[in-house]
Amino acid sequence: MNAQRYRRSMIVYDLDSLVGVNRSEGNSSMGRSTNLSLINHNVYTYIKDKFQSAYIQSSTSNNNNDENDNKDAIVNEEKWSVMVIRDPFLLRQFCDDVAFTRSIREIEEEEAEIRRADQPVRCVQCSDYYLVQDNKMGVCVHHDGFVYDNHSITLAQWGQHAAIAQLLKEEAEAIKQSSTNPLTPEQKERLEREKQRFKYICCNQTVQASGMVGGCKRGKHSLADVKLIQWEYECDHNRDYQDKRLNLLQTRI
Ligand SMILES: [Zn+2]
Ligand SMILES: [Zn+2]
Repeated sequence: MNAQRYRRSMIVYDLDSLVGVNRSEGNSSMGRSTNLSLINHNVYTYIKDKFQSAYIQSSTSNNNNDENDNKDAIVNEEKWSVMVIRDPFLLRQFCDDVAFTRSIREIEEEEAEIRRADQPVRCVQCSDYYLVQDNKMGVCVHHDGFVYDNHSITLAQWGQHAAIAQLLKEEAEAIKQSSTNPLTPEQKERLEREKQRFKYICCNQTVQASGMVGGCKRGKHSLADVKLIQWEYECDHNRDYQDKRLNLLQTRI
């Protein structure tokens, strides 16, 4: 049968298979990024042009049976194109290129997603801010264990933040005291030793009250919904580190 006889025709394009998207990871000054590009660009351009220009095609047909003198009749031929696109990047690209009207819900969802991506999230592990798309393995440097007091016979356990707060408090007290009553060299020496008494159980590094927050672990930043109290709980109750502290204690008895 001759397809031309039909006034309506429809063609379905599967853009995921016909065009396809190439993903490549790259390093830039902004950190690691994912670059997306179309694979079959020529096919894409061809389909895009078809989609934009040929949905209604007017043609003139000669109708010899017509009794009127007006022999030429305009026949509107509807040519429908249906696009099947699963890849979000391809979908956005195509909608933008053909100025396709999208539903309000779709637009709102996309805007919300962009807002979320631009919103810095605070990581409870390293206290730094990050963007969701930059949260890759290795970007978060932190300690994942509690702190112990190496000068106490029970190796008293401290939370990371509590230990730092304690060091800062002692430092402030020492300054206050020395302003009225200068410290003797022995007192100063003792104070310096005391400053070094808190160690991270994960790596035995000395806890510093100030300066850059470092760490012995490199991982991903904590997700937006994780609270500091949850993270500290995890550090305080890590089974391996509990055992490590007990072992340390036993070697000292
Ligand atoms: Zn550590
Ligand atoms: Zn982090």
